[in-house]
Amino acid sequence: MNLILLGPPGAGKGTQARLLVESRGLVQLSTGDMLRAAVAAGTEVGKKAKTIMDRGDLVTDEVVIGIISDRLDEPDMKGGAIFDGFPRTLAQADALAELLERKGLTLDSVIEMRSDDEVLVERVTGRFTCAGCGEGYHRSFKKPAKEGVCDKCGESKMVQRADDNEESFRTRLLNYYKDTSPLVGYYHAKGSLRSVDGTAEIDDVTKQINAVVTA
Ligand code: ADP
Ligand code: ADP
Ligand code: ZN
Repeated sequence: MNLILLGPPGAGKGTQARLLVESRGLVQLSTGDMLRAAVAAGTEVGKKAKTIMDRGDLVTDEVVIGIISDRLDEPDMKGGAIFDGFPRTLAQADALAELLERKGLTLDSVIEMRSDDEVLVERVTGRFTCAGCGEGYHRSFKKPAKEGVCDKCGESKMVQRADDNEESFRTRLLNYYKDTSPLVGYYHAKGSLRSVDGTAEIDDVTKQINAVVTA
């Protein structure tokens, strides 16, 4: 099964993708995570992407399509993938359709995670991540059981993303409405769009996703 999680910054894509990895054995393909890894590793792609990402603008289609194309060639892709944060433009959506077709893979559902701008700003500015395993947390909505210690791996270093400030968030949100939200219509027209209420609690969103992907 191959799924896309589509939604604005803070909609809960990464959180639900990790849960789907656990429950369905899918591979999470987050272009944001891949780009942050390239930035951390100091590669050519990473050097170019960093200032764009910090500002909240989109990295070029060519770069992200290249990253996804390479990733789809790896052998673990057969069991299915969750695309998290990709595609973000119509050109990326067309490229993904072509890549999947070429590799004999199908796209099963596109799950739109609907939200509300004021909920999103609170989600993004309160977000932090475990430096050890990447588990996501929130200052108010998803605190670790023991403050500052990861529930999953016991690591005590938590990190905040450079772009998770209000200014960069506002740019990302505008870019979502301008460049990414047309994909809602695109996938609706193709018959693959399913929508869930992303403002609900984490467990409830998971239930809604399970209901639409098995329907
Ligand atoms: P995205 O990948 O779409 O940007 P995340 O999954 O990283 O979003 O979620 C953004 C922040 O909101 C994180 O801190 C996460 O713990 C929290 N979060 C995710 N889903 C929910 C939810 N349904 N209710 C409350 N907080 C949530
Ligand atoms: P969020 O969790 O807020 O939705 P991501 O982690 O998906 O953010 O992405 C962080 C940043 O990485 C984006 O603001 C953008 O600069 C870049 N990026 C990630 N995915 C893409 C993509 N598919 N196309 C262009 N830029 C991307
Ligand atoms: Zn951890």
